[in-house]
Amino acid sequence: MKKEFIVRLQCAECKHINYYTRRNKKTVERKLELKKYCSWCKKHTLHKETKK
Ligand SMILES: [Zn+2]
Repeated sequence: MKKEFIVRLQCAECKHINYYTRRNKKTVERKLELKKYCSWCKKHTLHKETKK
């Protein structure tokens, strides 16, 4: 049985949630930090994992 859950990636600048991604429990040791395009900032910004 797979244990997956959804994490949200939040723009570090405008705080909008721009991406959702799935992770399984084995890879959850660290928080994700990814450079992704933010349509609110209109540029690539750092996106950090945030939980409910
Ligand atoms: Zn942004």
